[in-house]
Amino acid sequence: MFTKDQIRHFQSLKTPFYYYDLKLLDQSLEEVKKHGLSRGYHIHFAIKANFNAEILERIRQAGLGIDCVSGAEIIRALECGFRPDQIAFAGVGKTDEEILIGLNHNIYSFNCESLEELRVLNELANREGKVANVAVRLNPNVEAKTHKYITTGLHENKFGISTDKLPQLFRLLHDLKSIRLMGIHFHIGSQIRDLEPFRQLCLRTNELQKEFEAEGFHLQHLNLGGGYGINYEDPDLEPIPDFKAFFDLFSEHLDHRDDQQIHFELGRSVVGQCGSLISRVLYVKEGVATDFAILDAGMTELIRPALYQASHRVDVLTSSKPEKTYDVVGPICESSDTFQRGIRLPELQRGDLVAIRSAGAYGEVMSSGFNLRERVKSYYS
Ligand SMILES: *Cc1c(COP(=O)(O)O)cnc(C)c1O
Repeated sequence: MFTKDQIRHFQSLKTPFYYYDLKLLDQSLEEVKKHGLSRGYHIHFAIKANFNAEILERIRQAGLGIDCVSGAEIIRALECGFRPDQIAFAGVGKTDEEILIGLNHNIYSFNCESLEELRVLNELANREGKVANVAVRLNPNVEAKTHKYITTGLHENKFGISTDKLPQLFRLLHDLKSIRLMGIHFHIGSQIRDLEPFRQLCLRTNELQKEFEAEGFHLQHLNLGGGYGINYEDPDLEPIPDFKAFFDLFSEHLDHRDDQQIHFELGRSVVGQCGSLISRVLYVKEGVATDFAILDAGMTELIRPALYQASHRVDVLTSSKPEKTYDVVGPICESSDTFQRGIRLPELQRGDLVAIRSAGAYGEVMSSGFNLRERVKSYYS
């Protein structure tokens, strides 16, 4: 995965740091273009997964738009050269200030998540003398079969408008004069590796589209969200997700009307594999059952294991000795600050370098200042 020269370079740098393989990012974007954009699909990158300017520039050049979940993300996207008409804005708790940012920049769509939000958006748009473009995010009650913290499309989740509320929603959409319905939006969860939930989503979308049409609404677009997963266990086996299989599924199962746009919002699947967190072993501490490899990176740099019980592959870059069993942990004062338990790795010693893989999405962006830790640097190849 890493060349000798790269590892030598890493040894001269202060650890921990994020390292991004931009060639892999470009290759992933080529696949997204080949199997998604070339079919006429509109794809927004979920900027919350990674908001580094270098990465966003490549994503912009590939022709993707942006999916935002905060006002600051809208501003960041605009600063990075994305056009307002490439920006969708989701989120269950948009503030008035954030809504005004979207309205004043005439973004492509507000993906509204409640009837209450639609009323507020209508009022603010009216006050500004504008008409807001809206997609309503519906909760399709589809089981994404992923970790419960990253499942978003079930009735028990806070996201989207429950389909029980459709009669009230239709009334509101007819009544509110400062919003314009453009489409319907879904996002059922993240790190979905099995395509079946997406097939279920297509079937549900087809039914819901008919209900909107029966009410006299023509939908200019359907937005199927993101959520496609990556191979965390073996990133080298699958450095680029199978985008063909993903987009083929939607082509096959979605009833899409002539002149209707199909939108997606991909985050993890685009950037997940191109990032690694590079860290140094501070101590190898003898334990009772297993030894601990204590790294200088912890949950402050990569919180996914602590937050979602996520597993990131750990590769040792500077030892090829016979293997031993380790718990690989960070330095933070939390027991959940653990990357791996009981894994076999080449024997480690103080100063060895490791790469925590598949950390390009929801890694650096979720880093925190807990324990007054400094934000780490990022480097690009
Ligand atoms: C986070 C998010 C996405 C991207 O999800 P991935 O699993 O990273 O593809 C897409 N749409 C919305 C509304 C989101 O909140």
